[in-house]
Amino acid sequence: MTPAAYAGSQLSPGLEPPELAYAGLPMPGPHLEAAEMAPEDTEIAEAIAAGAEWMTELLARLVDRDTTLGKEEAGQSVMREALHELGLEPVDVPMDPEALAAHPAASPFDWDVRDKMNLVATWAPERRDGGLSLILNGHIDVVSPEPRSQWDRDPFTAHVEADWLYGRGAADMKCGLAAILGAVKGLRELGLSPHAPVLVQSVVEEECTGNGALQTLLAGYRADAVIIAEPFGAAITTSQVGVLWFDVVIEGLPGHAAEAGHAINAIEASLTMIGALRVLEAELNADPPPPYDQYPHPISLNIGQIHAGDWNSTVPGECVTGYRFAAYPGMSLEELRRRIEQAVADAAASQPEAFPRAPEVVYRGFAADGYELAQDHLLVDSLSAAYARHMGESPALVATTGTTDARVFGNVGGIPAVCFGPYAEAAHGVGERVYLPSVVQTAQVMGLFIRDWCGLS
Ligand SMILES: [Zn+2]
Repeated sequence: MTPAAYAGSQLSPGLEPPELAYAGLPMPGPHLEAAEMAPEDTEIAEAIAAGAEWMTELLARLVDRDTTLGKEEAGQSVMREALHELGLEPVDVPMDPEALAAHPAASPFDWDVRDKMNLVATWAPERRDGGLSLILNGHIDVVSPEPRSQWDRDPFTAHVEADWLYGRGAADMKCGLAAILGAVKGLRELGLSPHAPVLVQSVVEEECTGNGALQTLLAGYRADAVIIAEPFGAAITTSQVGVLWFDVVIEGLPGHAAEAGHAINAIEASLTMIGALRVLEAELNADPPPPYDQYPHPISLNIGQIHAGDWNSTVPGECVTGYRFAAYPGMSLEELRRRIEQAVADAAASQPEAFPRAPEVVYRGFAADGYELAQDHLLVDSLSAAYARHMGESPALVATTGTTDARVFGNVGGIPAVCFGPYAEAAHGVGERVYLPSVVQTAQVMGLFIRDWCGLS
């Protein structure tokens, strides 16, 4: 199977492989001798498993809310209630448009972000006693479920069938938020307290800018490590590509279809532009650096939107195409922008009759650098060890061909960050779903990791 853009959801050994299991492309990781579960570990795993139904109910409540861009508050209100149920006090971290617009690592945006809230709930130690602090992070925003006509059921009504929960956001990544809260709930019900702060975060705009995660850093929330519960399954994501969003605005010359010879069709010109950018995509995929050399096609150019024309008998005079491009970690976005702009300019210059005006490249949304964490970093080792103790073998390490908020914490905050979450399928697709036993398993591994990393008593 060809790796998907969201490659990497891996099944762990304790789970029955579902029919559509996607095996991803793990990198050789540390193969640890799995230590025995201590009695305290078993107690933690059992307490967290006892909350399985609570996690499923929380996940269903979250999936039932449409939290596409601009509507995130509908989900944050559910998160506030759930955090209160755990006895935690969520703090609103509002998006600050001026501060974000001025920040060099923010992604550009032209929509209203005022009144949008990120949430941070701090589980503070009763007494600070060594231990390392931890951020457990997830995003509340989801992508549009269109075309809804392809869904068997309403994408914003959670549906459970044979251990799978279906709905938009079930995978990406409300399941991860449910797992995070399930881990904290189990530990708190045992009367345990961490030796260093554990921060639970639910952020906005992971799917388009990463500015929600950035806002939490600007507000001063920091820790010694970040785990983002993105649904990669039995795998730790240590490497991710950069992602750049841009529009190409093509001006033609409108006219009557009956006199098309005097008009210039901007939609047809956009096809030329797509072809030119596909050539650049092929160049970038020609010789991928490791670990991306495992993928036949790691750098994807996606044509995500096209807006043009409004009348069948009028030659369209403008076409705006929205693209997503990727870059290897280490390749600067400036370099990618330069190559895109060159490709666009060259394509237009080679066909002056199709491009009466130079097309414009406009940047809005993701300006996300790639990110890598050393595979032998303490965070990777510790999380692998907690996983191995619970599962009896090491998790895979994964290089993903998509982006996540890990880069914001790692590149901007200087905080080591990885993704680790439930097993899920069809993120951004039709029939998106998560395998519910993997939500519990994720929470259990997080519980053991908190014991190791933060200390618990
Ligand atoms: Zn996600």
